[in-house]
Amino acid sequence: MNIHEYQAKALLRQYGAPVSEGRPVLRPEEARVAAQSLGGPLWVVKSQIHAGGRGKGKFLGAPADAKGGVRLAKSVDEVEENVKQMLGATLVTIQTGPAGKQVNRIYVEAGSDIKRELYLSLLVDRATSRVAFIASTEGGMDIEEVAHNTPEKIKTITVDPAAGIQAHHGREIAFALGLNGAQQKQCVKLINTLYKFFIEKDVAMLEINPLIIDGDDNLKCLDAKVSFDSNALYRHPELAELRDETEEDPKELAASKFDLNYIALDGEIGCMVNGAGLAMATMDIIKLYGSEPANFLDVGGGATEEKVTEAFKIILSDPNVKGILVNIFGGIMRCDIIANGVIAAAKAVNLNVPLVVRLEGTNVELGKEILANSGLPIVSGDNLADAAEKIVAAVKARKA
Ligand code: ADP
Ligand code: MG
Repeated sequence: MNIHEYQAKALLRQYGAPVSEGRPVLRPEEARVAAQSLGGPLWVVKSQIHAGGRGKGKFLGAPADAKGGVRLAKSVDEVEENVKQMLGATLVTIQTGPAGKQVNRIYVEAGSDIKRELYLSLLVDRATSRVAFIASTEGGMDIEEVAHNTPEKIKTITVDPAAGIQAHHGREIAFALGLNGAQQKQCVKLINTLYKFFIEKDVAMLEINPLIIDGDDNLKCLDAKVSFDSNALYRHPELAELRDETEEDPKELAASKFDLNYIALDGEIGCMVNGAGLAMATMDIIKLYGSEPANFLDVGGGATEEKVTEAFKIILSDPNVKGILVNIFGGIMRCDIIANGVIAAAKAVNLNVPLVVRLEGTNVELGKEILANSGLPIVSGDNLADAAEKIVAAVKARKA
């Protein structure tokens, strides 16, 4: 689960990390009060969307020389003007895709005097099975290019989970960032704070870019991107209210309510599969036969008729879907039960695209018989390759 920058900064502030004063703004008429309460003389008006690259982003329909999604303002009037321009507009960044994201919240923040922009992040490093800090002197808006062109400028420091965070981690990072004595002390403290926050809140990724040296030579977190491990959210009821459902794909949101593992993709063949590995294999084989999957969907081991129906509804709510491939292995679940579930679901959703079903496992013959006698135009696949070939052919035939 991702949260907005202003929410991340509020959490970091609670933990004692240095962040600027700011006010979230949801309506244009709140802008003046927010700006006045911060005092100035410099403000930054920041679009809040769940995507990075806002500073270099462009608003849809804005003139070519218009400013991006993060703007400096030198007066209360200027703050208000920018809030009005940005609220409701659609911001396109390298991370949003060409459709962009609508800006529904703004963060008006006190402007900082920036001497240096550094990069700092924390993540779970799967290679070492540890929490890792990533630090670089080359912070700011081009970190992806730095990683690509000059990877030696990026330093990784992992933390032994048994020993936990130690002062030497902070000192190593301070050294990598080229900090002076006073900043080094601040850095050790910040590294401790961020690690504590990361562990206590089950954070999956925390990125501070830029971490700055400000005009008074102090460290400050000027941007904050946080995502939490969704599997651990049940331990943090206090975080649930930070969820912004408008930022999520409505299909993925519906899937999460029915405990379905669904990821929307760009292709045309909807997939309904049990087991993540089988789902991956199904997506691969659709590509092999010359089409593209419209989604990843793992209905899980105990897929009930209700779940299967919801899965169908979600798949079909995607206008790109031109055909569906159901690929189910009946292990614990019997194929005849799955067949009945598929038929009930197909009837419930008024299925209007080709449907190919491949069943394997317990009671497979009975399952196939139920499908064949359903009176519905369901095509049976004998194996994974056969099923994939059939659905790709059926979709092509319809287009022709
Ligand atoms: P994004 O990473 O989405 O582009 P940032 O929050 O990093 O958004 O902002 C982009 C740039 O804007 C930063 O690299 C920094 O130079 C500038 N900036 C952001 N917040 C402030 C602030 N409070 N004061 C001064 N400059 C800021
Ligand atoms: Mg940033």
